[in-house]
Amino acid sequence: MKELLANIPLVYFLYVRKSTDVEDKQVLSIAAQIAELKEYAARMGIYTVDVIIEKQTAKKPGRKKFNKMLECIEAGEANGILAWLPDRLSRNSVDSGKIIYMLDEHVLLDLKFPHFWFENTPQGKYMLANEFNSSKQYVDNLSLNTKRGLREKVRRGEMPGVVPVGYINDVRTKTAKVDKRLAPIVREAFELYARGDKRLDEIADFLYAKGIKTKSRKVGGERKAGGKPYSRNRVTRILNNPFYYGHFRYVGEAYEGSHKGIVSKRLFDQVQTALERRGKPQRKAKNEPKPLCGLVYCSCGMMFTAETRIKRQKNGNVHVYTYYRCTRKSKTVVCREPHIRAEELDKQLTELLSGFAMPTAWADKLRELMRNDEASEKADFVRATGKDKQSIAQLSDKLQRLLDGYLEGDIERELYQVKRAEILGQKKRLEEKIEQATVGVLTWVGPMTAWFERAVSICKIAKSDDLLAKKSLLLEIFGSNLKMQNKEVVARDDQFPNSPLKPHWQALRAAREKAALAGDQISESSILVPRAGVEPATLSLGRNSSIQLSYRGDTSYCNCKHP
Ligand SMILES: [Zn+2]
Repeated sequence: MKELLANIPLVYFLYVRKSTDVEDKQVLSIAAQIAELKEYAARMGIYTVDVIIEKQTAKKPGRKKFNKMLECIEAGEANGILAWLPDRLSRNSVDSGKIIYMLDEHVLLDLKFPHFWFENTPQGKYMLANEFNSSKQYVDNLSLNTKRGLREKVRRGEMPGVVPVGYINDVRTKTAKVDKRLAPIVREAFELYARGDKRLDEIADFLYAKGIKTKSRKVGGERKAGGKPYSRNRVTRILNNPFYYGHFRYVGEAYEGSHKGIVSKRLFDQVQTALERRGKPQRKAKNEPKPLCGLVYCSCGMMFTAETRIKRQKNGNVHVYTYYRCTRKSKTVVCREPHIRAEELDKQLTELLSGFAMPTAWADKLRELMRNDEASEKADFVRATGKDKQSIAQLSDKLQRLLDGYLEGDIERELYQVKRAEILGQKKRLEEKIEQATVGVLTWVGPMTAWFERAVSICKIAKSDDLLAKKSLLLEIFGSNLKMQNKEVVARDDQFPNSPLKPHWQALRAAREKAALAGDQISESSILVPRAGVEPATLSLGRNSSIQLSYRGDTSYCNCKHP
């Protein structure tokens, strides 16, 4: 056999490989490998038929060109391989085994490496197997080291892996940067869900409408098309990812991140409560509907709850009544508050809510005023900081000239140090000044815009049967401070919770009341007259300006086109 094989001419494939992975960092470039191997082949009289270039890692089996090469060898196109070192051929046990098996079967007759001795004998194959093993071990060690690196990263507050939507992986600094375009959308999704009246599907639709959708990806070798709304699971994973408030989870543990959060911990917690509440299986018809529970307190201080009664008449008719009543849990007060029918409670609450509906014409006018304020505040800011920015640039120039002078030997070391410290101090002070001016600039715009939308939406919601939406609005306006007294919902001004929006809601209601008293015909341009003054109907917009809600207005509160 051996003599027979000795007469077969040896034909080699020249195989070069370098991946971008860490394990190949020290390896010669592909061009250098080819050059050296060709030179070696010429010197040793090795006949090569083709050069095969691969840019893939050999950590795992499945390299395309490598597999194709083995197929060609099986087909008899060549019977040897020339490579830089055995680890170019394989770093995993499957490919290593394949090569040794092909050598055993005399399909592959020879391997040549300039820096590694190989002979197709039991001893040669033993040495080769050893070499393959150590290159596999090298990869294993590397992955261990990588894990160690990851732990170090986590300790520094950096989450290993891909950042969630709303962030960008900054390749340069290797940190997570807030995505200026998507982060506000993600924050809005949190805010929407925190209100408690949106389903996960609706959040997915909201994200989809704003351009946040699935990407195409590979699943089991097949490419799955993207461009669809996120699944409920995916939305849940976003809504309970602590990354968004500045922490992150890694292997089941929570860590403080070094990245900036895009939602507050408070908002995050509200969302968790909403997730928990909505995640519970809905109880069956027996206890439904009770969407208005948790909103109204009894005059005795206890909560109101819902109850359903079924009335069967003798003629077979069945009536189902829902009413709300005091839980009567007080041990000190004997409560005499009667129950109230669900329809009646809904009617009263709707009436209360309607008092806060913002007519679209008012909103349009207010938005316009707001845009003006926004523009002028922006201009103020640019004006105020522009000079400082200029000064900073000048100071930087000065520093550079100072350094040049020092390097040229024109300035003494001591003087240089004193001067430098002085300039750096000036620069730092200016930078801090700008930083302080930036805080608070235009921060009112987002909440204000959202408030307009909420206030305008009241009209539509008040006319609907969407009890959850009504409840969420009433909770926003009054907190859980609505009381029942003799079958009447009582809402006093001191019942408003102390929220930043409190003056807005109060101003809006006062404006609506005045409009109703005025009873004039509507004249769109005069609905709102910006005026100085501190009346209850003053709505402060920006830092500097406030406008008064005034009107010669429409008496029917809504002139929008809702059904
Ligand atoms: Zn009571």
